[in-house]
Amino acid sequence: MPATVVVGTQWGDEGKGKLTDLVAKEMQMVVRYQGGHNAGHTLVVDGESFALQLVPSGVLYPHITPVIGNGVVVDPFVLLAEIDTLEAKGVDCSRLKVSGNAHLILPYHQELDMLTERYLGKNKLGTTKRGIGPTYADKAMRVGIRAQDVLDEKIFRQKLDAVLEDKNRLLAKVYNRLPFDADELANRIFTEVVPRLSPYIADTVGLVHEALDADQHVLFEGAQATFLDLDQGTYPFVTSSNPVAGGACPGAGIGPLDIQRIIGIAKAYITRVGAGPFPTELFDAHGDTLVDRGHEFGTNTGRRRRPGWFDAVMMRHAVRLNSLSELAITKLDILDSFETLKVCVGYDVDGRRHDRLPYHQSDLHVAKPIYVELPGWQTNLTEVREKKDLPAEAVAYLQFLQDQVGAPIGFVGVGPGRDQYVHFNA
Ligand code: GDP
Repeated sequence: MPATVVVGTQWGDEGKGKLTDLVAKEMQMVVRYQGGHNAGHTLVVDGESFALQLVPSGVLYPHITPVIGNGVVVDPFVLLAEIDTLEAKGVDCSRLKVSGNAHLILPYHQELDMLTERYLGKNKLGTTKRGIGPTYADKAMRVGIRAQDVLDEKIFRQKLDAVLEDKNRLLAKVYNRLPFDADELANRIFTEVVPRLSPYIADTVGLVHEALDADQHVLFEGAQATFLDLDQGTYPFVTSSNPVAGGACPGAGIGPLDIQRIIGIAKAYITRVGAGPFPTELFDAHGDTLVDRGHEFGTNTGRRRRPGWFDAVMMRHAVRLNSLSELAITKLDILDSFETLKVCVGYDVDGRRHDRLPYHQSDLHVAKPIYVELPGWQTNLTEVREKKDLPAEAVAYLQFLQDQVGAPIGFVGVGPGRDQYVHFNA
């Protein structure tokens, strides 16, 4: 039962795509377990770039069955458009499986996402306005519509009528908007979506277990990251699902003991998009260097990401929250130009030292990082492929991170290219 989970350990954008791509080669199945089409990553295969938002990265390999697990929320129009784009580039998507239990993002979810963000004004969360949060909310309210519902027109219509009554009241009476027409929406779903989506809908829990029972390698792909987790992240500046490794259990239908290997991905520094506490945030020229050298701008929005030094306090917490068996460090090459580097090893909160993440978020908002300063290497790492060729300062930096966070470092990224990495503990 060789099951591996790959999970982001910071606030996202850690460069999961490249590592996932690398380990995917050994896999027979790649399963996404949460999130929606807000999770895009870019893969470059044979010089061609593929931007994937919903379809698991395994789709690019003919030997892999890509699976969208029940914990994912699926915008059927987006999924079909993504399949069209991939197929136009010659990628065969016929192996794709979509869980019949995955909840569907429908047009009223997007409308409500937009309206609630506007209504919150300056308190807005900065959601991607794709209807993901409202779809998870409906799931929890038990009024969601699942992929399997479209296989029975009568059931779909009953559910749609019931939920639209409520949504339309909200849209008209609270937000002064036009209601959705159930006939029109059902007609769109049954002409544009159902004929094309139906062949992909499957019992994915059954398929995953069949694969594990047959000793196939299965990769569970988390989207977003640990500190964006609905339960464990810096609430409310979080996503509406559970990216932590354990989320693979409810999100794909496996038990905790099915998982054998858990790889956490972290940048050699840290970034965050949008609002929320960020103890090691840099507002100086060092921050600008990280943003410029690391191209730290949102893929979809172009928004500048907030940069900061590596935070070992958060990472220790991430190691515990995810039971990480190993850590992959990405973008070490972005630190090439620094004379010295800082690593946060504790927080000072009103004169008291914290080595663990304070449980009260007010403390996190005022936490002052306690830094250890290490010498930089001021050498170009992008050509290095073996640990023995890393400068002593880079080895010392990685060793320090490893000792601080308590998980062994395996893969270390030294450039965006597929082959630009070093095995640290090989
Ligand atoms: P994700 O949101 O975590 O999936 O992040 P992506 O996989 O989209 O990666 C973000 C960007 O970082 C991409 O443009 C990658 O090419 C780039 N990247 C990944 N690893 C490295 C690395 O080790 N060094 C450099 N310079 N860039 C990297």
